[in-house]
Amino acid sequence: MSQQYQHDVLVIGSGAAGLSLALTLPGHLRIAVLSKGDLANGSTFWAQGGVAAVLDDADTVQSHVEDTLNAGGGLCHEDAVRFTVEHSREAIQWLIDQGVPFTRDDDPDHEEGSFEFHLTREGGHSHRRIIHAADATGAAIFKTLLAQARLRPNIELLEQRVAVDLITERRLGLTGDRCLGAYVLNRNTGEVDTFGARFTVLATGGAAKVYLYTSNPDGACGDGIAMAWRAGCRVANLEFNQFHPTCLYHPQAKSFLVTEALRGEGAVLKLPNGERFMPRFDPRAELAPRDIVARAIDHEMKRLGIDCVYLDISHKPAEFITTHFPTVYERCLAFGIDITRQSIPVVPAAHYTCGGVMVDEQGRTDVPGLYAIGETTFTGLHGANRMASNSLLECFVYGRSAAAHIVGLLPHIAMPEALPHWDASQVTDSDEDVIIAHNWDELRRFMWDYVGIVRTTKRLQRAEHRVRLLLDEIDEFYSNYKVSRDLIELRNLAQVAELMIRSAMQRKESRGLHYTLDYPEMLPEARDTILVPPTFDD
Ligand SMILES: Cc1cc2nc3c(=O)[nH]c(=O)nc-3n(C[C@H](O)[C@H](O)[C@H](O)COP(=O)(O)OP(=O)(O)OC[C@H]3O[C@@H](n4cnc5c(N)ncnc54)[C@H](O)[C@@H]3O)c2cc1C
Repeated sequence: MSQQYQHDVLVIGSGAAGLSLALTLPGHLRIAVLSKGDLANGSTFWAQGGVAAVLDDADTVQSHVEDTLNAGGGLCHEDAVRFTVEHSREAIQWLIDQGVPFTRDDDPDHEEGSFEFHLTREGGHSHRRIIHAADATGAAIFKTLLAQARLRPNIELLEQRVAVDLITERRLGLTGDRCLGAYVLNRNTGEVDTFGARFTVLATGGAAKVYLYTSNPDGACGDGIAMAWRAGCRVANLEFNQFHPTCLYHPQAKSFLVTEALRGEGAVLKLPNGERFMPRFDPRAELAPRDIVARAIDHEMKRLGIDCVYLDISHKPAEFITTHFPTVYERCLAFGIDITRQSIPVVPAAHYTCGGVMVDEQGRTDVPGLYAIGETTFTGLHGANRMASNSLLECFVYGRSAAAHIVGLLPHIAMPEALPHWDASQVTDSDEDVIIAHNWDELRRFMWDYVGIVRTTKRLQRAEHRVRLLLDEIDEFYSNYKVSRDLIELRNLAQVAELMIRSAMQRKESRGLHYTLDYPEMLPEARDTILVPPTFDD
């Protein structure tokens, strides 16, 4: 029997964004935080490097702003960048107050009174400004925030709950546009429950799983983007997908990044015949920026029809390799690859979704009562290329500002009346799950081949044709069969894929992460690609 729930705030997503919003809200509010798997399901847990913020006395807001604008290929919104950076110090202080065990600065020359935590530097940043917890920052942040949330009796943490769709006044045929909550599949009971809420927040992460190879965990299916789109929200800049050049290529190795530091220490990229190819693409060879290396690998894979290329550091002494890269060494060894003697099979992998649901500085979407925060959003911060470690920062800054905005509106917004139950009277159990599995594979493969690192108009047209067929097939399946996590994710991935393809086709230039052989030049004027859902024009 399906259940009805009522909360003041429904937060869909238990990563950095969702947890920071829930913890910033006052303790008298009834809050539900949902995760479609276990609570550690999102990308947050896997973040390694750290969080960018202006913390060092020698650093300035202006410098962080300029670095971000430079990385973003002329497409960042300067106001959003400034807003994020100006709130970076207080966001980090909040994390420190929650108890996040950031690595301390144990440098003997550390000056009395200066910032006490260690700051590292990453690509694109002109100062040391990355605060981190060794090389497992995301896990440290997630565990700390989760522990804090568990101490709060007003926060209900619900695992194995997959939001299927948002409930809006429009969807119920009422006058108005307000979001009233969501229908949510409880994977423990198989029922779709109704969550009514005064405010609903999408904190569902990115959509990198739309590609065959990704560094993201399994849940990164763009659910929030697809749900928001169906509810009437605009989305923007979905053609900008960041690819990490070197992910381990092995049938059993899901999503393992081979750190860029290997190339920093002299590892070279080779073709299956042993030929080194990067010098042909860029004078900096393996040390060229991420997007250039990813593009070169993609080019060679497509040219030769090969499944992967090879990263080789075996010319360095074994002891150097095992002491500098213990994690990579151990992980590869577990798959039978001894990196002190063998090269590592690698492919580029989809890593970060720069575009998403359009929001303002308070995380408000186009639908009243619906907020979005974190990787699922388009705030204007990342432009055409995300700068390293700005993404976690965005989760905290917008999570906290959305919470503050919700608090301001509380006195004016009542709890929605009882909402209709999910109607499952017309659907049956599927006996054709093979269709879902097949469509999953097909979608991710053609997105990789046709809408990947290097694009052409012809490839995009092919992808558009394929995705429309898939969407029809999935729609039919969705109308006739009971929902499952796989079906919900496939439906959302296909929707987001269609939006990505459409966005890529609209951009008649190459800029940042969007590179097309048909329009290799950058246009003088930088413009966002904004897609408006049909309900908006009704
Ligand atoms: C390997 C890796 C390393 C990274 N390193 C860094 C780094 O060093 N610094 C940095 O700034 N960024 C880094 N990033 C990016 C950063 O981790 C993410 O952008 C950020 O964690 C996203 O947080 P989020 O809260 O928006 O979403 P996530 O942490 O991805 O959480 C999404 C949540 O939404 C839930 N969810 C999704 N769909 C539904 C649904 N339909 N119903 C219910 N729940 C749902 C999931 O279960 C999950 O709880 C890295 C990413 C990866 C993959």
